[in-house]
Amino acid sequence: MTLANDDENPLLEKPTGPFEVPPFARISPEHFSPAFARALEAHRTEIDTIAGQSTPPNFENTILALERSGRTLARVSSVFYVLAGAHTNEALLAIERELAPQLSAHWDRIYMNEALFCRIEELQQRVGELGLTTEEARVLERYHLAFRRAGGGLGAKAKQRLAEIGERLASLGTTFSQNVLTDEQAYALVLEGEPDLAGLPDFVRAAARGTAEERGLIGKHAVTLSRSSVVPFLQFSARRDLREKVFRAWIARGEGGGETDNTAIIAAMVKLRAERAQLLGYPTFAHYRLDDSMAKTPEAVMGLLDAVWEPARRRVVEERDALQELIRVEGSNFPLAAADWRYFAEKLRKQRFDLGEEEIKPYLQLENVIAAAFYTANRLFGLTFTPVENVPVYHSDVRVWDVRARGGRHIGLFFGDYFARPSKRSGAWMTTLRDQDKLDGDVRPLVLNVMNFAKSEGESTLLSFDDARTLFHEFGHGLHGLLSDVTYPMVAGTNVLRDFVELPSQLFEHWMERPEILRQFAVHYRTGEPMPEDLLTRLLQARTFNQGYATAEFLASSFVDMDFHLLGPGVAPDAAAIEIETRGKMGLPEEVVLRHRPPHFLHIFSGDGYAAGYYSYLWSEVLDADAFSAFEETGDVFDPATAKRLQDFIYAAGGVRDPADAYTQFRGRLPTPEALLRRRGLAAERPSS
Ligand SMILES: [Zn+2]
Repeated sequence: MTLANDDENPLLEKPTGPFEVPPFARISPEHFSPAFARALEAHRTEIDTIAGQSTPPNFENTILALERSGRTLARVSSVFYVLAGAHTNEALLAIERELAPQLSAHWDRIYMNEALFCRIEELQQRVGELGLTTEEARVLERYHLAFRRAGGGLGAKAKQRLAEIGERLASLGTTFSQNVLTDEQAYALVLEGEPDLAGLPDFVRAAARGTAEERGLIGKHAVTLSRSSVVPFLQFSARRDLREKVFRAWIARGEGGGETDNTAIIAAMVKLRAERAQLLGYPTFAHYRLDDSMAKTPEAVMGLLDAVWEPARRRVVEERDALQELIRVEGSNFPLAAADWRYFAEKLRKQRFDLGEEEIKPYLQLENVIAAAFYTANRLFGLTFTPVENVPVYHSDVRVWDVRARGGRHIGLFFGDYFARPSKRSGAWMTTLRDQDKLDGDVRPLVLNVMNFAKSEGESTLLSFDDARTLFHEFGHGLHGLLSDVTYPMVAGTNVLRDFVELPSQLFEHWMERPEILRQFAVHYRTGEPMPEDLLTRLLQARTFNQGYATAEFLASSFVDMDFHLLGPGVAPDAAAIEIETRGKMGLPEEVVLRHRPPHFLHIFSGDGYAAGYYSYLWSEVLDADAFSAFEETGDVFDPATAKRLQDFIYAAGGVRDPADAYTQFRGRLPTPEALLRRRGLAAERPSS
């Protein structure tokens, strides 16, 4: 449906209400298609004008002009994607499907624009003579890299081949993930009667009953091969034969030898990726991928993985021996098998820590956890959060706070949308309705946190420890958006490299676990009593349990990811052989199976997403552990001087600097993995001196 008159489309007006928040009440789904059409057209015209000028390129007529272009598109897109994620409906879902290929074609057309690339290339060549600020030079560099990675400057034949490779990889990736899904759906372990249910607690039984019902097996129980179904079963089922059966099926996804076998797809994808990297001037896909990351080189990634694996290997062997001992104490004499690990680890965890979720929850009220996050932001950065009522929102559950700096200067708005509802997709995320920039005046950010907590009517909403940590995590991303203090949109807020973007969020989680915070905010919702110290201690100690295993299965997948993508062009690898070889090099105990085996490693083969990038989860953890230890070393987790550097070089700095430089400015040195090893309980015992 098209509207008669664009003047009546609220998406195309610059918002005029309080804080210029979009007028949600007036926006309906039929406004989006015409607004996108207008915004895309306007952006195309702007790009063509920039690319087609006869004036020689300078920063202003090319880079600044690019930064000013597409403003309407950015505004319409952010409103759309906020709604599509947090409050969607059939009409928005249909628009979303239609829009995805349109937007990707739009951006491809820009990044493949040769005239535009030539202007950027010329500026990059002369960067030293342009008299740019640090930030401007970085913005230019980011544009140049984005165009070069899309094939800018290559001959027509190479570009054509790149496009073919891109299309072929996209379709192989889709087939890969559909094969995994088909294998997962084809299998169900049906549990018949009480003997098959031995050991399963109520919540696992209830889930298994639901799974059976979805498959038309009324009154029965079933376990499928999705992680959320199979892992609890492996953890609790007392039936060793059934654990073995389901485990074998689980680790064989994508490797069944039939139509859904992914072996040939992996070989083709790895080969095509290496060819693409070579066309773009890199020796391997890993070099290409890591060139645009904080890690920069495969050597740096392998160095990190090796540094963590050495102590993790010692620990996983100790853990294995402890589980074997538990089997012996229980009166059995079978050797621990891979399918047994989770079951005996769960038993041992219960013996050592005796920690139930129901013990913790009454101390974690949503309101107090929000207050704790605000308190921490205040202690560190001087921010205050005041509720505002007069701002448009897209759902009555959404709450809004006016965020101010020390001295009262308005920083931005923070939107908290905490409760699950059918119109919201699952998970938790931070997003923005508007990013900070100072291109043409002082644009203040509008930052959202969206969660899926179960709302309890009438009573306080109580959170699990994981929920509370998630709230702090997303709030950390939120602060990265709010505190942003840059000029150019290209490097504003969370527009930073992928292996750096989780630093502000994961780092913020550390304060949630501090006794200083928990004593004040983790109070019982009925009695107001603070969480007992003993509970707190057990909670924090339990965190390092079984970390040798968790680290080993993660690292094995990371090493395999790197080994595939460090192959040169022309090699179509045998996935099974690579896996065996990698395990051998690591000396991985046979009781540990990769967290994701190659035939179902969706992170690296369903698309390019985490190819040669699976390491980045661990990389981020190294950063946040090392960054938090900067506070611990001062003896004050709110140390003002450290907090000031953290704000200046990390939270406020967006992508203005190379992440390694930014981190060094904050920390005085590059990160080292020692703090991570301590946090995971993998550090060698300190010699007593
Ligand atoms: Zn995150």
